[in-house]
Amino acid sequence: MNNIAEQLNLAYQNLNKKCGLLGIKSDTVQLIAVSKTKPASAIITAYHAGQYQFGENYPQELAEKSAQLTAYNDIVWHFIGPLQSNKTKLVAENAHWVHSIDRLKIAERLSAQRPENLAPLKVLLQINISNESSKAGIAADEMLNLATSVAALPNLELKGLMAIPAPGDSEHAFAAMQQLSLQLQQLQPQANELSMGMSDDWPLALKYGATMIRLGTVIFGARDYKQE
Ligand SMILES: *Cc1c(COP(=O)(O)O)cnc(C)c1O
Repeated sequence: MNNIAEQLNLAYQNLNKKCGLLGIKSDTVQLIAVSKTKPASAIITAYHAGQYQFGENYPQELAEKSAQLTAYNDIVWHFIGPLQSNKTKLVAENAHWVHSIDRLKIAERLSAQRPENLAPLKVLLQINISNESSKAGIAADEMLNLATSVAALPNLELKGLMAIPAPGDSEHAFAAMQQLSLQLQQLQPQANELSMGMSDDWPLALKYGATMIRLGTVIFGARDYKQE
């Protein structure tokens, strides 16, 4: 077996083990393989090892890979990076999920630009849960307002919340996200997905109710941004 297939296998084994310890059904947690900066060939390798959910951070890179990989038409693309309004069209046309909705204007553009022949775009609201001044995401107390507006847009489906905690703040942040998710589900019961946990902190995220974990490094190895 090659390296990517092996690491993917190991990631699923670890995920299943951790779910077992926590008493969670492992099929209720999605592992998203974060393939940003990695070539399409790495995605194909993971695909042949049984992986269908992939995460990308850059609109142009998502569009290019999606075009290169049209033959693999059961790949599910998750856009998880920061999104500027001049790039929403690339994402509306190529993603199945967007995890990083942080303002109404972006959501409105995605809804307007979603091609009619595609299913509604599934979206998550990104919460700046550690209150970092430099980070993307809305404040926790803005969540319900934005959720109400986004849920009303015709070509989007509000599915839940996402967060990237500050280093060292994971446990506190994940616990706060779990509470926020329950709050959201009282108004929008279908919005029960919680995207949190990366290579370093996913076991802790599971403990606090993560339903989608986003793993890059442990599957594809370290990223080299200089080559991009
Ligand atoms: C890059 C990235 C990941 C994956 O990070 P790893 O530490 O490599 O697992 C997950 N989520 C987001 C939003 C990212 O940008």
